[in-house]
Amino acid sequence: MGKIYVAGYGRSGYGEHRGYGWILYVVFVLLFLLALLGGAVAAVVEMYPPQGVLILEYHKVNDRTKDEYSLTPAEFAAQMDVLKADGYTAISVLDFLRAKKGKQELPKKPVVVTFDDGYSDNYTEALPILEQRGMKATVFMVTNNVGLPGYLTWDQLHDMEKRGIELGSHTANHLPLTNMTVAEARDEARKSKLMMEWKGLKTVFVLSYPNGKYDKFLPDILKEEEYLAAVTGDAGLNTFQTDPYRLLRTNIPPSHFGIREFRLRIWKAKAMAVLGLWQNTGTMEK
Ligand SMILES: [Zn+2]
Repeated sequence: MGKIYVAGYGRSGYGEHRGYGWILYVVFVLLFLLALLGGAVAAVVEMYPPQGVLILEYHKVNDRTKDEYSLTPAEFAAQMDVLKADGYTAISVLDFLRAKKGKQELPKKPVVVTFDDGYSDNYTEALPILEQRGMKATVFMVTNNVGLPGYLTWDQLHDMEKRGIELGSHTANHLPLTNMTVAEARDEARKSKLMMEWKGLKTVFVLSYPNGKYDKFLPDILKEEEYLAAVTGDAGLNTFQTDPYRLLRTNIPPSHFGIREFRLRIWKAKAMAVLGLWQNTGTMEK
């Protein structure tokens, strides 16, 4: 009985078995190559750390809101401590742009700590943590939200600027610019910048694209509206070859695996830089 079964299985089963084994073999080889590539990238990142400015993207820092945009003050402080311990120096986007023009030197390991949207906890929670560590940061404000519940007020923005925080635009209404006409997108960029400057804040040079969404028609508009740079949500490290209107930025959501996850996100940005993947060099094809 057993013999008959084996014999019967033998003919039809052999081909199937071979097909299955072939797929397994390919999967195994691919996994092996992937592991090899991962190992090689890890070694290169470790031995020859890629040069460039790391830009981090935060939103809210508080103990109240529990969502994908909120870090607790304790978690945020621990991350700032890691940056300091790893030898990073916080700079502004303008520092980076000035260094590109040869007007100032960059520190050995520069990092830009940025906040999108302009939540009031950036003032009440994040600012003291940054000040205790002597760190700068950049806040991208949605100007039509100034003074609304949960958002920064003009007084807070003024005080933050006095205390070394760089302010940028996150547009007037936080709508994706990519869905707009040229005239509408220009309006969003222009009105937010003018509003901040009319209110007596420093000249605004940098914009953060709402939802990280950008398109090839936007840099020209931003240039005409006298912006010098814009940040995206694309991970990587910024060099002087990076398109200033597509600066690379690493999003930092609340972590599920503690500080290791934060380190891994920074590592990913470095790995992308080492591999040269989506590093936004040159200008966008038109
Ligand atoms: Zn936003």
